[in-house]
Amino acid sequence: MILTAVTKTQPDVALEAALAAGQRVFGENRVQEAQGHWSGRRDAPGLELRLIGPLQTNKVADAVALFEVIETLDRPKLVEALATEGAKAGRAPRVLVQVNTGAEPQKAGVPPEEADALVAQARAAGLTVEGLMCIPPADEAPGIHFALLRKIARRNGLDVLSMGMSGDYEVAIRFGATHVRIGSALFGERNRGETPSVD
Ligand SMILES: *Cc1c(COP(=O)(O)O)cnc(C)c1O
Repeated sequence: MILTAVTKTQPDVALEAALAAGQRVFGENRVQEAQGHWSGRRDAPGLELRLIGPLQTNKVADAVALFEVIETLDRPKLVEALATEGAKAGRAPRVLVQVNTGAEPQKAGVPPEEADALVAQARAAGLTVEGLMCIPPADEAPGIHFALLRKIARRNGLDVLSMGMSGDYEVAIRFGATHVRIGSALFGERNRGETPSVD
């Protein structure tokens, strides 16, 4: 079980403290913020950067250059863009397919019934598909979503399950998470002021 330390909105001092404590696997939500955080820290031995936020097509080249793993592959167009930019850069991040297990209209992720096809398409395009990722609906018990993700992974022969955050990682581990993505439980509450409010 691997701890992905989520450093979005964290100050440099928090990154430095985590690195000094030996943490090497980090998750970031936004490509641009991740560049600011990590471009000057790429030489930390064993560093693994994972993109856990939505990826716009126009940011794919930057994402390919920075991340070891992209956890948010969720549409056919992104498969093509990742394959093209990976070939150009001679660098191919491993990928997880993000599944919208709760079928929430505004949430990123491929609908569960389209996940197998997207995995197949990504493999056919030459991407290294390692597993699946999900973010359960905030207002539901997460177990059923973690179980669904595990089921989809098994039938596709995928080993990696990125699921569980500060509020539900214990449940996720019970359902077989291989990676938990933890921000606030490690670093404290984020500065909410930095996130544009939606109202
Ligand atoms: C912010 C974020 C996390 C970490 O959330 P916490 O509740 O602070 O642990 C995990 N996964 C994703 C996709 C996130 O955006």
